[in-house]
Formats: sequence, C-alpha cells, structure tokens
Amino acid sequence: MAGKVYLVGAGPGNAGLLTLRGAEVLARAETVVYDRLAAPELLALAPEAARRIYVGKSPEGHTLEQDEINALLVSEGRAGRTVVRLKGGDPFVFGRGGEEALALREAGIEFEVVPGVTAGLAGPAFAGIPVTHRGVSSAVALVTGHEEPGKAESDLDYAALARIGTVVFYMGVAQIGEIARRLMKEGRAGETPVAIIERATTARQRTVRATLATAAERVRTEKVQAPAVTVVGEVAALGERLAWVERQPLWGRTILVTRTREQASDLVRQLRDLGARVLELPTIAIEPLPQDELAGAIEDLAEFDWLAFTSANAVDLFFKCLTDGGSDARALAGRRVAAIGPATAARLAEHGIRADLEPEEAVAESLAAALLEAGVGGGTRVLLPRAAEARDVLVETLRQEGALVEEIAVYRTVVPAAVDEASLEALRAGEVDLVTLTSSSTARHFVSLIQSRGGEELLARIKGQLKFASIGPITSNTATELGLTVAVESAEHTVPALVETIRRWAGK
Ligand code: SAH
Repeated sequence: MAGKVYLVGAGPGNAGLLTLRGAEVLARAETVVYDRLAAPELLALAPEAARRIYVGKSPEGHTLEQDEINALLVSEGRAGRTVVRLKGGDPFVFGRGGEEALALREAGIEFEVVPGVTAGLAGPAFAGIPVTHRGVSSAVALVTGHEEPGKAESDLDYAALARIGTVVFYMGVAQIGEIARRLMKEGRAGETPVAIIERATTARQRTVRATLATAAERVRTEKVQAPAVTVVGEVAALGERLAWVERQPLWGRTILVTRTREQASDLVRQLRDLGARVLELPTIAIEPLPQDELAGAIEDLAEFDWLAFTSANAVDLFFKCLTDGGSDARALAGRRVAAIGPATAARLAEHGIRADLEPEEAVAESLAAALLEAGVGGGTRVLLPRAAEARDVLVETLRQEGALVEEIAVYRTVVPAAVDEASLEALRAGEVDLVTLTSSSTARHFVSLIQSRGGEELLARIKGQLKFASIGPITSNTATELGLTVAVESAEHTVPALVETIRRWAGK
C-alpha cells in the first residue's frame, strides 16, 4: 500500500507554534524530511525509530535540489511510509510546498497539507506589531524581497504595494535599500515606519526599528542577519508600545531541563510560561525491577503501620503491583502514608490516597525526622518501596529508633539509551544559558551522558563554562564534586521554588 506525505508547517522557529495536527502526524511519522529553519526541538516529537532526513538549504550551498527533494518524497511515499515533510513557517508561503504537492499528485501519492504559522505574521506578532489595526491598516501583503536570481526587472508591482497599508517582506534583508527606494519612488513616504525582525519567535529574536528612508542604513549598522522579516507600514510603530516578549522574565534564556521525560513536564511548563526557551535532555530512565518482593509485601499490607514513598516513580510502581494483583486502593485502609514532597504527594492523590504526612523539606533527613515525630519508633512497621540507589539515611535513622523497616528496591535509574540530538546540538553551539539539576542522580547521569554521547571535549567545555541551577544543597554538592558550576541553588526543594530562584537569577 502506498504511504502518505504530510506537508507540515513547522512554524517560524519557536517549537510552541506547531499546530496540534502537526504534532499528531509527527508523533507517528516513519520518515521526517526537514529543513534548517524548523525548530530542532520538533524532531523529538517523532518516534525514536523514525528516519530523519535533513534537506536544508544553506545560503552557501544547496544540500539537496528541489527536484531531489520532490523525488525523495515520492519514493518514501511509494515505499508505503508515513512521511512528514516539515517546512519552516507555512508550507505554502514561500516554502515551495506547492511544488512538492504537485510532484506528489503527479506521482499519485496521497498528501495532506498541515498549515503552519508563517514568519511574516508571527514575526510581527512577537514584535508587538498587529499587521492590521483598526484605523491604521486594513490590508496586509506578504511579499518576497528576493526574487529569482538573474531576473532583470522585478515582477513586483511596487506601485500597487506602495498603496497597501502593511507590507511584509520575506527574505532578502540585503535588498532592503532597493525595496525602500522603489516604494518611495511610487509615493510611499520616507517616514513610513519599518520594523525588521530577526530570528523572530526564537530566544534570539531582535527587532530593529527604522523608517523607509533609514532602513538600509539601519540593516547595515545593526548587522541584521537572515532569517528576518521586514514590516513596512504605520502599524510598525505600534511595536514600541506593544512589545511584550522582552517583558517576560526568562525571555531570551535557553534552559536545559535534565530529568526523566515524564517528570520534567511541570518544570518545563513553568519555565516556558516565563518566556524561556526550554530544551529537554532526559538523563534518567526508570527501569522497573522484578516485583515479587513487593507483591509479597502487598499481600501482607495489613501488617504495616506506615507506607513511605520517596518518589513518584515508587508510587506508580506500587500501585501497578497492587492492581496487577487484583487489588485496589482500599488495601491501604488503616495504614498511614508518608510522602517525601509535593510531587510524590500529588502522585499519591492521583491514585486516590491523601498523604498523612509530608515533611517541610523534600529530603530524606526531613522525612525521617517527621516520621519519628509522628510516632514511628520501636516496633513500628514501615514499608518503603524505593529506588535501588536511594541513600541509606532514611532507613538507618528509623532503624536506630527501633522501627522495622522493610525496604524494597522497586526500580533502578539508568542512563537512557538515546540522547536528544537537538539539546546536544544546542550545548555544542553554546546556546544553553542554564541547566537544571533536580537530584544527585540527574547530575551524575548528565555528566556520563555528555561524556559518552558528546565526547570529552564537550564535557570539558561544559565543566568550564556552563551554569547549573540546583534544587538543593545535596544536589549542589554532587554537582560540585563532579566539577560542575552551581550558579544558583533553590531556596526550597520543590519545582516552584526552583523556578522562582531561576527567575531571580535572571534578574527581572
Ligand atoms: N514558509 C516560510 C517562509 C520560508 S522563506 C514561512 O511561512 O514562514 C524564508 C524566509 O522566511 C526568511 O528569509 C525570512 O524572511 C522568513 N523567516 C523564516 N523564519 C523566520 C524567523 N524565525 N524570523 C524572521 N524571519 C523568518
């Protein structure tokens, strides 16, 4: 059976601007064909096993000619694959998506177009410029500033363009002088506001303001680089009053979050809400251990006075074992339940259990102290399902007081097999401003992951230059011992406190 090719708009560079439909088809792609402009983070949405084919064109050299790309899409489709052709912005706006669609139709390959957020509209929006505005501009034209090379006379009707309220030019920032000259020649005033938005929607967005008369000079002195869009029209002046991205506390910062992918979502969401570009580098994979011992303990659950949980993973595995054995949360009736911190307590709540005890600080020492205070002591039976490599302090403290602690290793944390290439690339390119560490094991795994996948040279550079944000003193110690530079330490051992500390570090 023939496959299907999805021509998907990847948006202008900010990964959050992909459409839901785009994410959905990416998640089941067998082949992803992508360019340079697409946000690299998007590739992580495709299954690990998907083939990723880079066909990006650099201004210097063409990696693949357009007809080669067309042929590639046709042959992947013919081979019966689900193909996602990720294209910057919208596939049908200066994206040559039309040519690709025509080639597919001619070859009889089914396709679907998933529109994207085009740079010419998203760029102005991120610069606080509404491309239409009541009483200011009621029409917008999207225009290429870079026509086919070698063309003697421009096809563009500058007389018509000069009469349109807002004109957005894609490509060709170098040609801005010629464009401005023609518009002025056709009667557009030299004072007409112009905004040039470079790397719009990314952490390195920059807006250069000018007028038609000064635009070429401003592009030169400010050394504006592609990709950039140029907005010409009165609306461009609104950008000064409506600028908003720069006001976000973490705007312009790239933060790498190191955790298991499952656990990182809260931290990632909160950092993104503050305007940061957030990359993920899962450094921990959870490997469940044989659960016979836990199953045995669950059968005798009634004999325990307390159940103590020191991670959300342990909670999940405990309940999985419980339900696999044909039981449910009622088996916990009469037991008291302790959670080390808010995330663990929240996971318990998802399973219908409200923790009886949660220490002020989410560390083993505090949990031990809180349990002792709650009456755990001589002869108290405590069930503690936990990670194989957990620290001994909790068990030792309770045992010293005569408690009978049954400690069961239910999972191990391991370094994941695959590494997120986009994150590794950003580290190599020196784009990362801060790396979050939320446990000693994330710090250790981060170092071994970089060493094995990134090489010694990258590791040395990371040790010398990169800044780390740690969730607390124990994690900081481990990181420092590993040679990492802890620039900030959270006041409290929780995700919101870590986020608040990072926000203060950013100084806004
Ligand atoms: N199909 C794309 C446009 C591709 S043409 C879209 O719909 O957005 C490439 C041009 O798009 C660049 O030369 C630049 O003018 C513009 N562009 C793409 N990404 C951009 C970005 N992040 N910031 C500013 N301009 C961008």
